Amino acid sequence: MITPWEVSEDIDYKKTMEQFGIKSIKELLDDIENPHHFMRRGIIFGHRDFGRIINSINENKKFAVVSGMMPSGKMHFGHKMIIDQLLYYQKHNAEIYIPIADLEAYWARGMDFETTKNLAIEEYITNYIALGLNPDKINIYLQSKNESVKDLAMKLSKRVNFSEMKGIYGFGGETNIGHIFAPIVQVADILYPQLNKKIPTVVPVGIDQDPHLRLTRDIASRANKTKEFNFMPPSSTYHRFMTGLSGGKMSSSKPETAIFLSDTPSKSLKKKIMSSKTGGRETLEEQKKLGGTPENCVVYELFVYHLIDDDKELKEIYDSCKGGELLCGSCKKNCYEKIKEFLTDLGEKRECAKEIAMQIV
Ligand code: SF4
Repeated sequence: MITPWEVSEDIDYKKTMEQFGIKSIKELLDDIENPHHFMRRGIIFGHRDFGRIINSINENKKFAVVSGMMPSGKMHFGHKMIIDQLLYYQKHNAEIYIPIADLEAYWARGMDFETTKNLAIEEYITNYIALGLNPDKINIYLQSKNESVKDLAMKLSKRVNFSEMKGIYGFGGETNIGHIFAPIVQVADILYPQLNKKIPTVVPVGIDQDPHLRLTRDIASRANKTKEFNFMPPSSTYHRFMTGLSGGKMSSSKPETAIFLSDTPSKSLKKKIMSSKTGGRETLEEQKKLGGTPENCVVYELFVYHLIDDDKELKEIYDSCKGGELLCGSCKKNCYEKIKEFLTDLGEKRECAKEIAMQIV
């Protein structure tokens, strides 16, 4: 079972797509004028009703993006993937909504409201702004302070029963009632942009968040039948999870697996990258003869996801790795240089972004 609180490390994306009716994004790529590199490179692999959002983009019509956050620690490159997508939608004039899930953090993770708020401002919103989100054009709010969202959640909760919640999320008799209600608040977050106007909405997520999307679409359709609301089912896209530096999952709680956005260039960071899991061979001779396997290489993944925009440059690395001309030592050094440049620039921007972030929530 995949739930927003528990993700198994070996996700079979294809099987999950078939099981839950998620469509491949490939078939839509020709309709998108300038697809995000995550779409071109198969990192965003699936969608529900994304055609509606493409139409809005192509016809220059308004649409909304909802991307909730539940701050739980330092942000790493895996988290950056969401910001990259928001930046793409910002360029296409989307209305961006960022609910801070402080209610869910309280119910499901036992985090107090003050801690969640401070972490959201100092770590998350600061990085969002430093990476380029325009603070004047985003709607950020704390769930606990948004009366409209809470009212909407109250009303929508009537449209689902405990058996369904148990089936979707695996709740049991020991689950606290707040935790059971938390997904309904998320449903309200997703439908909130449509409260006073009909606007297509997209939610970019990892596959672990799909239960929220399925629930939202069901509840929206049931609420529409009573004529109390007239919601469009939200669209969604699904991206892959980044591999951690040592080959497993990238996780804030295991610093050796992640590059954090607040990392500064240092010997220890270089060491972390130089010892990451590559697709290199056992010996130099073997690598020169057989070539490496970039498909199984964390360093290459960093290039693909974050460090190289230019498809041509990426292909050159891929080809020279496969052909045995590129060796892992120099490739990792190149990776570190790119990360160093990125983090130095981000660190400077974060100073100013933090002051702005403090005034937003
Ligand atoms: Fe990975 Fe680079 Fe080594 Fe190829 S040469 S396996 S891309 S680190």
